[in-house]
Amino acid sequence: MNFKVCSLFSGSSGNSTYIGTEKTHILVDAGLPGKSIISALRHIGIDSRELKGILITHEHSDHIKGAGVLSRMLNIPIYANEETWNAMQDKIGRVAPYNRRIFYNNMDFYIDDVNIQPYKIPHDAADPVGFSLYYQNRKVSIITDLGHTNNKLIKTVMDSDLVILEANHDTDMLMAGPYPMHLKKRIQGRKGHLSNKDSGLALLEMIKGRVTHVLLAHLSRENNYPQLAYQTVTDILVSNGVQPGKDIQVDMTYRDRASNLYHIG
Ligand SMILES: [Zn+2]
Ligand SMILES: [Zn+2]
Repeated sequence: MNFKVCSLFSGSSGNSTYIGTEKTHILVDAGLPGKSIISALRHIGIDSRELKGILITHEHSDHIKGAGVLSRMLNIPIYANEETWNAMQDKIGRVAPYNRRIFYNNMDFYIDDVNIQPYKIPHDAADPVGFSLYYQNRKVSIITDLGHTNNKLIKTVMDSDLVILEANHDTDMLMAGPYPMHLKKRIQGRKGHLSNKDSGLALLEMIKGRVTHVLLAHLSRENNYPQLAYQTVTDILVSNGVQPGKDIQVDMTYRDRASNLYHIG
């Protein structure tokens, strides 16, 4: 019995992650057109009609674009906290009342056999969260879209088997790039996004726990590219005596295609 994890799409242009067990199939975010997500699921052997629900981290469009469509098409619930519901409901179209589920930060809940723990992360949205999902002693955590990490957050995720962690931008590329200054400041701010370096340093802390896999996620199209994110993060690990591939598996996610499908068990 495995916990299965696959990043279907990841990046500032749209995010959706599949997490499932034998009988429970869940999406975290649905920030692309519904049909793109359905075909990505099919590609990894998951029938979208078996989805049990969509968890929403926050209301930015790269996380919710397809959520309403999927809920209506497949008749499945959307789970978000109250502030996020308030901020997103006008953007996702009508959701049937019985498919409108509210969770509370720091209060865990179940979708069938999967336990889900939402917790606040620092980002410029109404009430953004990260999630840890538990199944049979295994734990998977998703923290993307956050301006910085802190001890509490590191502690929350460091006993995960697999972490999906943001590596949004390279700071030099961002500063030299085409974005207006206010946007550069926003991205670098305490409620913006983690840089590759931030991500590497956060990972150094996390692997003091039991993290064996990390997927670098939510890369900026303009201010990053996969090889650079991977290199920056693994350089930080190596220069601190951690061997990628041996002490920890570091993999990428992609804006336009699915990552590997991981079986955690
Ligand atoms: Zn995002
Ligand atoms: Zn965001």
